[in-house]
Amino acid sequence: MTDLKSIVTTQARAAGFDLVGVTSADDFAADRDAALERIREGRMDGLPWYTESRVMRGTSPAELLPGARSIICLGLSYWQDADAARSSTSSRLTDGDSGRRESDSRFRGNGGAHSSLGRVARYAWVRDYHRAMKRRMRELVRALEREMSSEVAARWYVDDGPMLDRAAANRAGIGWFGKNSNILNPLFGSWVFLGQIITDLDLEPDAPLKKSCGNCTRCIDDCPTGAIVAPYVVDNPRCISYLTIENRGAIPREMRPLVQDWVFGCDICQDVCPVNRKAREAGQPIPPVALDRDPDAQERIDLVQLLEMSEDEFRQRFAGSSIMRAKRVGMQRNACVALGNIGDESAVPALAAALASAEPLVRGHAAWALGRIGGSQAAAVLSGAASAETDAAVLEEIRQALAESAGG
Ligand code: SF4
Ligand code: SF4
Repeated sequence: MTDLKSIVTTQARAAGFDLVGVTSADDFAADRDAALERIREGRMDGLPWYTESRVMRGTSPAELLPGARSIICLGLSYWQDADAARSSTSSRLTDGDSGRRESDSRFRGNGGAHSSLGRVARYAWVRDYHRAMKRRMRELVRALEREMSSEVAARWYVDDGPMLDRAAANRAGIGWFGKNSNILNPLFGSWVFLGQIITDLDLEPDAPLKKSCGNCTRCIDDCPTGAIVAPYVVDNPRCISYLTIENRGAIPREMRPLVQDWVFGCDICQDVCPVNRKAREAGQPIPPVALDRDPDAQERIDLVQLLEMSEDEFRQRFAGSSIMRAKRVGMQRNACVALGNIGDESAVPALAAALASAEPLVRGHAAWALGRIGGSQAAAVLSGAASAETDAAVLEEIRQALAESAGG
């Protein structure tokens, strides 16, 4: 037979993938142990779907596909330069591309002539990638079937399935584990969506890369919440990505100032990574087969507009975007936190209106933001709300906010 592996590689590229590697369908025993340990240590708290049984299944490819022989691991770059992103939208953006300097300076205020803006993780600047990835994977399997004139048993996953996508990518030579727990590819850095096709095809596996982060600790040092508690170990409940996306409840008070102006995810540990910087400097990658860019997506979102959106407006605005995952209530909670951190007094009327939201979660965080912003206007709004509020948790937020705005 023609070299099956070459056919897979050629067809994967034809389907639009930037990276392709193959590993065996053997169990991921060491990765399973590490994942179970993280669960038992509480590092995955707040993700109720991330269970031990899910890990067991996800690290046993033969359980997912009886007769599995190989896993085709795929990567699709989603890097895009903020300037390019800006030019493709009528955006309200205020400054440049990402990086450590920027992640610090941006936060000191993005006001001026502009509205207050909240930052969005880069992966959400394109339309929800799950569909695009799965469509390409389906195309790849069909192409392989045509080449072989026979059916190919296959199951494919993006990161919404049980497979440990990073463990598979690591073993297939797509990249190595960074200390921020992302997979780092020498050409594309960590700005890569990962997918896996488990198949009964018997393919020659690739070797893992012989690379590592060496002595670098940049991501650990620069994480604003201290979420990378040890190399390769992210404490989920401390991570801004979790706090702003998966978290359905209140953002703990002590974490709110650390969230800065992020409203959906966080890119800091990727922005500061020298491997990513090198990839950018080398001009790589320019998305060769761009994922559908969300024409409305922005690297930043107007926080007051977000706060004022009805459910219908929210659905219309973010349809097809990963941002839907956080839901309107979550995003409005996040907007309050970002506004409180930015400290923009012109946001007081919008926060006052949010204090009348039907959602206690939004009211509580609006109160916090008003306390952070301070001033007589904010204090008057808080005092007025205190007399009408019936929810005990929100009342406590108002009480603390009044104390903070009074400097107490
Ligand atoms: Fe820390 Fe942000 Fe990275 Fe989470 S995404 S580990 S909060 S730098
Ligand atoms: Fe590794 Fe340094 Fe990048 Fe962290 S910042 S992932 S330690 S190379």
